[in-house]
Amino acid sequence: MHPPLPLQLQQIAAVIILITCRFVACIEAARLFSVRRKERIIMPSLTTYTLLKQEHNARRGEFKTVHGTVQTPAFQNVATAGAIKGGLSAQDLKDIGAQVMLCNTYHLHLRPGDKLVADMGGLHKFTRWNGPILTDSGGFQVFSLAKLRKITEEGVTFASHLDGHRIFMGPEESMQIQANLGSTIAMAFDECVENPAQHDYSKNSCERTTRWLKRCKAEMARLKHEGISVNPDQLLFGINQGCTYADLRVEHMKQIAELELDGYAIGGLAVGEPTEVMYEMISQVEPHMPKDKIRYLMGVGTPGNIIEAVARGVDLFDCVMPSRNARHGHLNTWSGIINIKNAKYERDERPIDPACGCPVCRNYSRAYIRHLLKADEMLGMRLTVMHNLWFYNHLMERIRDELDAGTFTAFHDRYVKLLDTRI
Ligand SMILES: [Zn+2]
Repeated sequence: MHPPLPLQLQQIAAVIILITCRFVACIEAARLFSVRRKERIIMPSLTTYTLLKQEHNARRGEFKTVHGTVQTPAFQNVATAGAIKGGLSAQDLKDIGAQVMLCNTYHLHLRPGDKLVADMGGLHKFTRWNGPILTDSGGFQVFSLAKLRKITEEGVTFASHLDGHRIFMGPEESMQIQANLGSTIAMAFDECVENPAQHDYSKNSCERTTRWLKRCKAEMARLKHEGISVNPDQLLFGINQGCTYADLRVEHMKQIAELELDGYAIGGLAVGEPTEVMYEMISQVEPHMPKDKIRYLMGVGTPGNIIEAVARGVDLFDCVMPSRNARHGHLNTWSGIINIKNAKYERDERPIDPACGCPVCRNYSRAYIRHLLKADEMLGMRLTVMHNLWFYNHLMERIRDELDAGTFTAFHDRYVKLLDTRI
């Protein structure tokens, strides 16, 4: 008697099915979205080190970052306060074949202030260098430049070397400053112990540096999670310490290797100990450094030091030496080091290094550059720094070429002493 009823029921059922389908689809979409959000938060860094080739312990590799891929072994060009001392800009760095710029946290924190740099969009936008930037932790300068230091478990209280005002810096503060700077790679805050140091003091210092490293890692994760970091893909390198004690160095390396960091540095060397001791420390630590992570020897060194450290398994370097030496007239060439201020160059029409292809050697004579330095002309500093940094960056390119060709060992034997010889 009620023929329309089944039809109505059918319609109602159809509507219910439709609503249910929509609801399920919405739930599924929300689930996928939340998974994606979760993945974004917990996703490990995209950056990886790839070992392309090895010749004995020497490694030819590639290091991928959000600001570009670094071909290794590589030299990091020191731009202390966001500029190379000697008047080289980011554009100049590109022209001389630089891959990485290194800036100092301590100096930028004091002047112009890391908050100002963050307000200006971070170091990349501020300096116009769009390649990878490594910032040190500030630790080395706190321990070498600042006055009236007081070290506690929390961190270090010190007086600014500029105006004497008191500053506190610990692992969290160092990470916060580097987050504001927005560098590609941040270095962990560590204690730099002066060589020689007592074994007991060094051991306690290493243990504190490990505790500080864990705090750095946690603080960086917080800064990224809360969207505070200018570079949400910022990487963290840990630093191996232990003075010149092989047992401490090895134990410390084993501990920090467990923390799964983006890279590992050897710090606290090249601070006055004999060169052979430095090489020995590298060789002791190297077997305990993760093979799939980039390795960085801090503050080293001469061309000969770099060639030797590459042979012992190091990938990354930085040093103020090429720019500082250049400003004093000590110039690197493929035949050794020359002092351009020597009288014998007064009428020398040849370039600094006839084997160099840099813009300075293509255009100017030794006589002219000598005159500029003698007359304290700013151009003299700029040209000599440009040449030395070209030399360092192209030395690394040559090392990579030799590794690619499987001829690095022969290259090492020919140049390791020659390049550091004063001629
Ligand atoms: Zn040159």
